[in-house]
Amino acid sequence: MQLSVVVPCYNEEESVPLLVERLVQAIEPWAQDAEIILADDGSSDGTWAAIEAAHARHPVVRGIRLSANRGHQVALTAGLEAARGARIFMLDADLQDPPEILPDMMMMMDRGYDVVYGRRAERQGETLFKKATAFLFYRFLNTLSDVDIPKDTGDFRLVSRRALDAVLAMPERARFIRGMFAWAGFKQIGLEYVRDARVAGETKYPFRAMLRFATDALTGFSTKPLKMATRLAFLSLYVTFLMAVYVFLSLILYNTAPGWASMLLALSFFSGIQLLTLGIMGEYIGRLYMESKQRPMYFLSEETGEGAPAEPVKIEPAPLRKEAS
Ligand code: UDP
Ligand code: MG
Repeated sequence: MQLSVVVPCYNEEESVPLLVERLVQAIEPWAQDAEIILADDGSSDGTWAAIEAAHARHPVVRGIRLSANRGHQVALTAGLEAARGARIFMLDADLQDPPEILPDMMMMMDRGYDVVYGRRAERQGETLFKKATAFLFYRFLNTLSDVDIPKDTGDFRLVSRRALDAVLAMPERARFIRGMFAWAGFKQIGLEYVRDARVAGETKYPFRAMLRFATDALTGFSTKPLKMATRLAFLSLYVTFLMAVYVFLSLILYNTAPGWASMLLALSFFSGIQLLTLGIMGEYIGRLYMESKQRPMYFLSEETGEGAPAEPVKIEPAPLRKEAS
């Protein structure tokens, strides 16, 4: 199979029919050998019925349904695990990401890129609050995290089979998929696009969900917050040193209250020691945490001779087949 399209859908009964029509159009050149996987994330509205109807109309549509609402990233993972294609295209159900960009992404992959992600040049129909928090989030994440996660990208991307297999080989449960693709490596490139407003329904990411998502991202890709105690400890010990000088000078120059000097020094010295101990524990917890993810240590992208993981091969779109009338 050449192409799998994967879409997580949660309470998207109105979007699904529109989405399927636009997707079927967009994948037309590859339609002979493609599938559209709609992953229903335990919706409580008519989404599953809409998916079944879409499957009846277009056999390329395959539906899978999670037994309960597990969240965007898990629904997407379920769809990715079901995908069988050599190339995998993922997007949101609400058509904020235009499927018509697919041929451009395919072209970039023909040139040897393993991951072609959409970069939002502009966002329409979203609140100033959402845009501002998203803007800050991606910048903050990048200063903290050890992986270079492309800014202003969502889960709108085309990936090769080997890039997908790399991500699926990471068994971690808190999944921040855009970061995982960045971490997986391989040749990556961004394509700019304008993010439209939702076609129907409303955002499934209220502030609460955004906060949880941001926490997953930060903790999943950085242990720097854990290491903050160490830095504070050194700062605190430095201040203690300065204070010791000040206290000593005060003792010989002025009449200070008895006990003042020893109190002050003991207090700041021992808080420094406490922070340092916390920092050391933080280092160990951070390492434990990283180990517990059990991520593969590396992936190969080239190898001499036989046996290297397949590079993305050029896919010739089948000639458009006109319906016989
Ligand atoms: N989604 C999902 N499960 C959830 C929440 C969202 O599968 O619990 C899907 C949703 O149907 C959509 C995508 O994730 O296809 C992105 O959600 P949304 O458009 O609400 O996010 P936004 O674009 O507002 O950030
Ligand atoms: Mg959306």
